[in-house]
Amino acid sequence: MARSSSSHSIAFAGDGIASRAMALALAQMGWASTIIAPKSKTLMGGIQLAPNGWAALNKLGLDQLGMGDDLQPHAIPLAMMRLLSLSTGNSLVHIPLNDRANRSPYTSMTRQGLAATLKAAAQKTKKVTWQTGIITAVSCQNNRATMTFKDGQTEVVDWLIGGDGIDGVCRRYVAADDHAAPQAYSRKAFRLVLPAKDCPHNLTARASNVWLGDGGHFVHYPIATGDVNLVAVMPKAADLDDLARLVSQHPQGDFLVDYVTQHRDQINQQPLYALPQLDAMQRQRVLVIGDAAHPMPPHLAQGAGQTLIDAASLMATLSDMNINPGDDLQPAFTRWAGERNRQTRAIRLNAERAGKIFGLDGPLAQLRNLGLATIGGRVLTKQLEEIWSA
Ligand SMILES: Cc1cc2nc3c(=O)[nH]c(=O)nc-3n(C[C@H](O)[C@H](O)[C@H](O)COP(=O)(O)OP(=O)(O)OC[C@H]3O[C@@H](n4cnc5c(N)ncnc54)[C@H](O)[C@@H]3O)c2cc1C
Repeated sequence: MARSSSSHSIAFAGDGIASRAMALALAQMGWASTIIAPKSKTLMGGIQLAPNGWAALNKLGLDQLGMGDDLQPHAIPLAMMRLLSLSTGNSLVHIPLNDRANRSPYTSMTRQGLAATLKAAAQKTKKVTWQTGIITAVSCQNNRATMTFKDGQTEVVDWLIGGDGIDGVCRRYVAADDHAAPQAYSRKAFRLVLPAKDCPHNLTARASNVWLGDGGHFVHYPIATGDVNLVAVMPKAADLDDLARLVSQHPQGDFLVDYVTQHRDQINQQPLYALPQLDAMQRQRVLVIGDAAHPMPPHLAQGAGQTLIDAASLMATLSDMNINPGDDLQPAFTRWAGERNRQTRAIRLNAERAGKIFGLDGPLAQLRNLGLATIGGRVLTKQLEEIWSA
């Protein structure tokens, strides 16, 4: 049974950062939309937000909504990014942050703070509504998109924007991948949130600290919930004992091993899927955004930033093409999707390359460290600056 149908209706599948930012962007340009997702949960931990992510956020118009400062309590400026060797403790690469225009602002950001602020801003426009539901299938007929829900009902909209993540139905539809094959992955992430008050002082330093080991690495930085966010990336087969072995090489290894041992059930383990880049981000009346469109390996800390850029760049496209509410969105979506697919492809390749380098083991890991301490560090810095200033 069809639930509803209205003209120029836009629905989002998923209620993550991508959908909230894009719904806000469309609302700022005059379009109403509905975000459809299962009941949202409080998000754990934080991310790093680089200057390009902040530039995109500024374009979403929080200032105009009187919310210009609302993100600040959720952000902590990070003074430097450094890559260090776990085996020697040597600093291999050192990038001062916030000292040049293309390195500033660089902050940590709580996931929940970012998501909640985007939601509050979208609510303030009065153009975004939320609906609870799980979409199980998507199809298009007669220039409209049909969503089928878990309860068997269907709903038809003019446009369906899939911000439903790497495993969502929208990505599969756009990729014309009807059979959900098991996804390949070779590495996984362990995510920990440690109370800063219990941590030794140097674990709380306002820096992005990337510790490179043998076959695995981890990064830690403080977040505004009063915690230290620690993410370790290791081979797929690694377990919590392997994690404890990796962190034991840190100068505060005893503390970290105790923490891992005592909080085993609070450590989140997440496969890092190696999903192919989509040929196109649009199929008929379904578009994909965020991780559904361009899942990023986390090694250059760009995934969420790129979802914000999706939203800001669509605003720019609508404005450049002078497309206003009531106009056909097709030309803007087609141009935007093509441009974003090209832009994110390059960043994703760089992130994959960084992941391979960070994951080296044995003698290759020693060669990596030598390379980073010499010419490689300069190459990485230049690459990051290019991404951050784009
Ligand atoms: C370990 C790790 C570290 C990271 N670190 C950083 C970092 O430092 N900096 C950075 O910028 N990025 C980072 N990222 C990337 C970042 O987390 C993601 O890019 C970002 O969260 C993607 O947001 P999204 O809204 O596209 O997807 P998600 O957050 O996955 O949201 C998907 C939404 O879709 C909903 N959904 C799914 N299926 C359905 C369905 N069938 N029907 C309806 N709704 C559905 C879900 O409930 C959810 O609301 C990291 C990622 C990982 C894994």
